[in-house]
Amino acid sequence: MAKVLDSKIPAGPVPEKWKEYKAHQRLVNPKNKLKLDVIVVGTGLAGASAAASLGEMGFNVINLCIQDSPRRAHSIAAQGGINAAKCYQNDGDSIYRLFYDTVKGGDYRAREANVYRLAEVSNNIIDQCVAQGVPFAREYGGMLANRSFGGAQVSRTFYAKGQTGQQLLLGAYSSLSCQVKAGKVKLYTRYEMEDVVIVDGRARGIIAKDLCSGKLVRFSANAVVIATGGYGNTYFLSTNAMGCNCSAAVQCYRKGAYFANPSYVQIHPTCIPVHGDKQSKLTLMSESLRNDGRIWVPKKIEDAKALQAGTKQGWEIPEEDRDYYLERRYPAFGNLVPRDVASRAAKERCDKGFGVNNTGLAVFLDFSESINRLGIDVIMQRYGNLFEMYEEITDVFPGDVANEINGVKYYKPMMIYPAIHYTMGGIWVDYELQTTIPGLFAIGECNFSDHGANRLGASALMQGLADGYFVLPYTIQNYLADQAVWPKVSTDLPEFAEAEKAVDAEQDRLLNIKGKRSVDSIHKELGHIMWEYVGMGRTAEGLKTGLKKMHELEKEFDTNLFVPGTKEGLNIELDKAIHLRDFFTMGQLVAFDALSRNESCGGHFREEYQTEEGEAKRDDENYFYVGCWEYKGKGVEPELIKEPLEYEAIKVQTRNYKN
Ligand SMILES: Cc1cc2nc3c(=O)[nH]c(=O)nc-3n(C[C@H](O)[C@H](O)[C@H](O)COP(=O)(O)OP(=O)(O)OC[C@H]3O[C@@H](n4cnc5c(N)ncnc54)[C@H](O)[C@@H]3O)c2cc1C
Repeated sequence: MAKVLDSKIPAGPVPEKWKEYKAHQRLVNPKNKLKLDVIVVGTGLAGASAAASLGEMGFNVINLCIQDSPRRAHSIAAQGGINAAKCYQNDGDSIYRLFYDTVKGGDYRAREANVYRLAEVSNNIIDQCVAQGVPFAREYGGMLANRSFGGAQVSRTFYAKGQTGQQLLLGAYSSLSCQVKAGKVKLYTRYEMEDVVIVDGRARGIIAKDLCSGKLVRFSANAVVIATGGYGNTYFLSTNAMGCNCSAAVQCYRKGAYFANPSYVQIHPTCIPVHGDKQSKLTLMSESLRNDGRIWVPKKIEDAKALQAGTKQGWEIPEEDRDYYLERRYPAFGNLVPRDVASRAAKERCDKGFGVNNTGLAVFLDFSESINRLGIDVIMQRYGNLFEMYEEITDVFPGDVANEINGVKYYKPMMIYPAIHYTMGGIWVDYELQTTIPGLFAIGECNFSDHGANRLGASALMQGLADGYFVLPYTIQNYLADQAVWPKVSTDLPEFAEAEKAVDAEQDRLLNIKGKRSVDSIHKELGHIMWEYVGMGRTAEGLKTGLKKMHELEKEFDTNLFVPGTKEGLNIELDKAIHLRDFFTMGQLVAFDALSRNESCGGHFREEYQTEEGEAKRDDENYFYVGCWEYKGKGVEPELIKEPLEYEAIKVQTRNYKN
């Protein structure tokens, strides 16, 4: 019999769903009358906001992170901003429009009801963060300022210079700290979840490792929430922080949680290009730069060749010889097309030989026009720290005048190229953010819920904080209401002992391989396979080759890995080896999903399925579903289970950013 997924979406037209839903909440635990414990794994924006909110509501929260402080979660890297439908610009924005843009941006592969709820709570997030003291940029008159991000024709992105994630996280951290002081949240820094413990079919706790002492620790609770971020680092080179990993999500997947839409990986168009083989990290130049920066390559192939040879510089090419290809191809959205569209367009130009650096894999992002129009001071106010960051890495300052042609000043342009950035896929969750394992919830980037096949800029912070502040604290109560009569299980149960033993044995296995290769060397090779065969352009043949190569490399990992040291005390190499083991599972999952989806949509581009103009060609008749994968064992193909999508409020159509 076909497996059926219950997404628990309440009945009724989309805008009414969330309201009705809230009205029917079975609120439990008013201020600590019941002793219900919740484990929240992760202190990024999703985890910190959830832990703080649950603590404030009276639950006892155990909150873990791998860093030495919650403030160092990857979320601090977010630069550009956070969306909300406040319509401060009076430009026609509305909750419906944010909802519509997000569904369209996701290439009609998101769950409609979830996205509506997200748009509806977006405004509350801004109010909450302002109340916490987040220093959002303001207009001269005191109103909060906005800028535009890709896939929208309104200005709805709130920002704090180029440090929005950091400021939002400081806000969430201050709330979290209040709850720590109040005794409602117990914080464990430098602790890593190593497995989820299932008792009688429900998530009842976790096995964690104290990363400093190497000791394994058991935690039990009435529910477990993972907020552990995305799997972008499967590709080795990405814009994600080096510590980002998908181990917690993969552990849940191995224990029975379905993994949804793994092939939906976002490649961001504005990153500093790869410049050598020794790199371990890529740097994002925020999408906000596309508000004022114009993207171009030369019109003439001989100019491109001269740029590649280093005999010509970008600023020597006059206006009439520049091809602003996004403005040319997508006049309605121009430089602000969504990321998947902008990335593919850059790849198309570079594949045709128009790349502008020595590798031929770069395009220009140029501020000459906006600096001439607005003045350098305004541009520096908006992007000063990003310009400085670019200079620090490349030694080129984009605000420097480089040339004057026919009385027009030309400034030094940035060079950018697409890079792995964000993962839309994640652990499958129902409308209540509960996974297929009862009592296990997933929030933030580690779930699949709201972005379909492509996330719009500034929507990840919105989703993480919506989940953490406004959705999970309501929805988890439906589960916990039934738990009120259950005592918290003891960590002496055999299920805990077994899980701990398995984690311990796995560490021994990795340490005892005693081969010749470092974790990083194998990870780098996995990254090459992922980028080459499971990257921006995928084909059935390439994906099969990629899978074969991944299997071979996994064998190499299992037989020729070298992990120095012991499991006692701090052993970063051992922790990285565990992450790499899980990146292998993840990489194969991405490839299986990409192979099964014979269409192109959003970030998933199958070269066999494109229009004559090179745009993604969806197949709604056969692939209008969420692809959920059930683990079947190491090296075995997982099973695909489909959650059909149903749209009531939005007409499903072909995305159009041209007019
Ligand atoms: C360079 C960059 C810029 C970005 N800019 C923007 C932007 O401007 N706007 C926007 O909306 N989005 C942006 N994003 C995306 C956004 O930052 C992320 O999607 C978001 O911050 C993810 O938040 P999170 O809480 O889900 O996960 P994270 O912030 O990744 O936090 C994960 C947490 O889980 C913990 N953890 C992980 N594994 C374990 C484990 N096994 N055990 C215990 N703890 C664990 C970590 O310690 C951490 O606390 C950007 C992303 C990047 C890479």
